[in-house]
Amino acid sequence: MTINREQLIKSFLEFFVEKKHVVIENASLIPAEFDPTVLFTTAGMHPLVPYILGEKHPKGKRLCNVQKCIRTGDIEDVGDAFHLTFFEMLGNWSLGDYWKKEALSWSFEFLTRNLKLKPENLHVTVFAGSNEIPRDEESFKIWEQLGIPKERIWFLKEENFWGPPGVAGPCGPCSEMFYDTGKNPCSSKCRPGCGCGKYFEVWNDVFMEYNKTSKGYEKLKQRNVDTGMGVERTLAMLQGKKSVYETECFVPIIQKIKEQINGQVAEEEQEKSLRIIADHLKAATFILAEKIEPSNVDRGYVLRRLIRRAIRHARLLGIEKSFCAKIADAVLAIYEKDYPHLQKNKDFIFAQLQKEEERFAAVIGKGLKKFDIMSKNKKQISGSDAFLLFQSYGFPLEMTLELAKEKNIKVDVEGFKNELKKHQEISKAGAEKRFKGGLADAKRETIKLHTATHLLNQALREVLKKPSIAQKGSNITAERLRFDFNFDRALTKNELAAVESLVNKKISEGLPVRKEEMSLEQAKKLGAQAMFEKVYGEGKVSVYLIGEKGKEFSIEVCAGPHVSNTKELGKFKIVKEEGVAAGIRRIKAVLE
Ligand code: ATP
Ligand code: MG
Repeated sequence: MTINREQLIKSFLEFFVEKKHVVIENASLIPAEFDPTVLFTTAGMHPLVPYILGEKHPKGKRLCNVQKCIRTGDIEDVGDAFHLTFFEMLGNWSLGDYWKKEALSWSFEFLTRNLKLKPENLHVTVFAGSNEIPRDEESFKIWEQLGIPKERIWFLKEENFWGPPGVAGPCGPCSEMFYDTGKNPCSSKCRPGCGCGKYFEVWNDVFMEYNKTSKGYEKLKQRNVDTGMGVERTLAMLQGKKSVYETECFVPIIQKIKEQINGQVAEEEQEKSLRIIADHLKAATFILAEKIEPSNVDRGYVLRRLIRRAIRHARLLGIEKSFCAKIADAVLAIYEKDYPHLQKNKDFIFAQLQKEEERFAAVIGKGLKKFDIMSKNKKQISGSDAFLLFQSYGFPLEMTLELAKEKNIKVDVEGFKNELKKHQEISKAGAEKRFKGGLADAKRETIKLHTATHLLNQALREVLKKPSIAQKGSNITAERLRFDFNFDRALTKNELAAVESLVNKKISEGLPVRKEEMSLEQAKKLGAQAMFEKVYGEGKVSVYLIGEKGKEFSIEVCAGPHVSNTKELGKFKIVKEEGVAAGIRRIKAVLE
């Protein structure tokens, strides 16, 4: 049976709706700031973290969707048959509802009955246990009952404990489903997860019953199921393709890239570069659609890396002229129906690609020559040479690493980082001198807004009468504060006015603000607010208390700094309230 992308997504969602699931939205690639260590949404579970931790989801306990994902950790693997930077993930969730038996049976049923996968091509894995967490005998038995013979059920360790994607958060043992391509085993030790390409993972059922914190693994309030199935891999499997690049998620993109080539490079040598260009420019298109611009930090840097690596590989294929926007156009043709924001931001996407391409085109040729000179008869590229390539020729460090690897030499990464740090210190000092007055003023404003954020946090809990409201993200500039918190509906006008007036009341009361150092335990006992999912580390934390001793209005674990009295703040005004993700609201406010 051949099935296309659209049909696969449709039949997955229909299957789970029949099993009483509700389809939820395909969230933004930019997470709602739950975790500063994760730049992009890496799985469908990301936007659901608060609900996995126990909060009530407005749509119920059984959810499903298709989610766009970006995994920066997989960029280096791109070029193989099954790892992409951008992919779509199908998922179904139980939030404190069904457990292993239903989850595994439904996965099996969907694969074999709906998708008509032959059960004999299926291998499954279950968690082998660790010092802290027991072996998953329950899943083993369920698979056996479903008819998978023992020889095809593998007990694995590291691979079968999922997450958390950042340093902390929900996680648990998992059970993965692998497709056997029928290739010969790479060795006597060949097994699912070995990476040789005989088996590839299509679906993962994660049993989230733990929360990882700085103290280790804690049991969650409820047992959750979180599953993820890659659209591209599943299509490759069902269509009998050797790689995800042969599915309709890529064929027109690769075709478009081939049209740009002037026929110098042999077919066999083209494959890896074609794959990298197609994957990277697809991912770049989706990042740009979130209105991120190429830069040297965070998401902007990932974007820059992707575009520049695509350009470098295009040069290997002999593509010299501008091509990125043409490839993005082919990406849009595949996805614009399902993702209207691509079409909406089309001009921005094309213009940014064009600009970044021009910037890099101006230096890449000289940079590559420079690299050849630097690396001639050398075993290692020095830190300062790698920095020169970065600074003057726009080579992301990863590009220098890739070039070096191709020549079988090393790069002094530590040395590069030192150079970068030195440079940042110099330019920071320069900037401080330049903006002396202005910057000091700006600092003062952000401190005031920071204290106002604490007042707002507490006012929301009091006005909305919901003690479980907590900070899910915060961002402060000299002009405004931005505060994300968990709440499942828009605030009414009256509620917003009440929050605003409570904050202003606390400002006019002229409450003292003081700082105390204590252990996280003590802070918790005091009832302090903290992003407990965040890792604060061992030792003492600083806590800011607003109000007279014993009668504090707000207590929060926070690094500061803050003003010393609330009367310094002026007038507090909410300028916007909006939703940013399922169950997450955002308030923007200013001080006048
Ligand atoms: P692998 O071990 O192959 O890297 P994973 O264990 O990282 O996969 P999960 O985190 O369990 O994968 O993600 C769930 C599903 O999402 C996988 O079963 C797979 O179908 C798909 N998937 C994961 N990573 C990628 C990727 N880089 N490209 C395409 N699909 C992916
Ligand atoms: Mg992986």
